[in-house]
Amino acid sequence: MNEFDLIAHYFKRPAKNADLGVGDDAALVSVAAGDQLAISADMLVAGRHFFQDADPERLGRKALAVNLSDLAAMGAEPSWFTLSIAMPAMDTAWLAAFSRGLLAMADEYDLSLIGGDTTCGPLTIAIQIAGKVPRGQALLRSGAKLGDEVWVSGYLGAAAAAVMHRTGRVTLTDTLAKRCDLRLDLPTPRLALGLRLRGLASAALDISDGLLADLRHICEQSACGAEVWLDAVPFAPDLLSLPQDLRQEAFLAGGDDYELCFTAAADQHAAIVALAAELDLPLTQVGKIGKGSDVTLLNAAKQPVPVTFHGFDHFA
Ligand code: ADP
Ligand code: MG
Repeated sequence: MNEFDLIAHYFKRPAKNADLGVGDDAALVSVAAGDQLAISADMLVAGRHFFQDADPERLGRKALAVNLSDLAAMGAEPSWFTLSIAMPAMDTAWLAAFSRGLLAMADEYDLSLIGGDTTCGPLTIAIQIAGKVPRGQALLRSGAKLGDEVWVSGYLGAAAAAVMHRTGRVTLTDTLAKRCDLRLDLPTPRLALGLRLRGLASAALDISDGLLADLRHICEQSACGAEVWLDAVPFAPDLLSLPQDLRQEAFLAGGDDYELCFTAAADQHAAIVALAAELDLPLTQVGKIGKGSDVTLLNAAKQPVPVTFHGFDHFA
């Protein structure tokens, strides 16, 4: 099987939502006049973002999930993606499982694979995703205002606990390890939430590097500070058996849960509580936007808590 057979066999599908898909020098898509294109890319490198022996079907799903999460955080509706892949050797069993996971996920979200690149090299998966958002309605990082509330979706820290378990920093029971592994391997992109936050949230991002580190990006771009209430942060019940310091590190600085963090004006509080019920997804206020430029962690007595761990930085 050569490169072109490989593409035709594993990745070429009839193009939906596109005028021209895989097979030419570029794909062609149409965008309605009132929409903007939202474009994002995320790369997964073996040994960096996933374990070398990761299950390829799950990896196919995760590669797409992390990209979908970026569009969710923009309030955009995903439509198309490209797949650039480097592999050390032609491994048909791996490719079959990877493309099965990837394309099943694409079907679930009505996404079209419209192109890519295939080359020999250290195992790397780079996806570029594009979607639509009505002009001017995207959720930016720069819109947080003084007095806004800070919210997060879901429960944080389970994916980080899985990494801690796999790297020997903690020992989880088999049942807990399986549950945390699922969160690490198969994150759920919060697309429905992202769409509903249009017009409701003032700023948003997805948590990929840890709540504190990611909230700092909102603060930088919105020129504000934030306080986070330690006791309010909804951590995954799976973390209860962890020592307190590692538990806090997991839910404050662990990133791979791909939940959304967003800010909203205080007068939207009731609307957000109602939205949580409607989406059947916990939405929890974890703090508020204030003056300054730092993210400060506060305990129940509203005293600052020193933070000794950092979000993930690939070059740190
Ligand atoms: P070019 O020589 O113009 O770079 P390629 O030979 O790399 O084109 O790719 C041929 C076609 O297959 C293009 O339409 C490209 O977008 C598509 N393609 C290549 N690799 C992949 C992949 N992994 N998944 C989906 N489409 C791919
Ligand atoms: Mg090419």
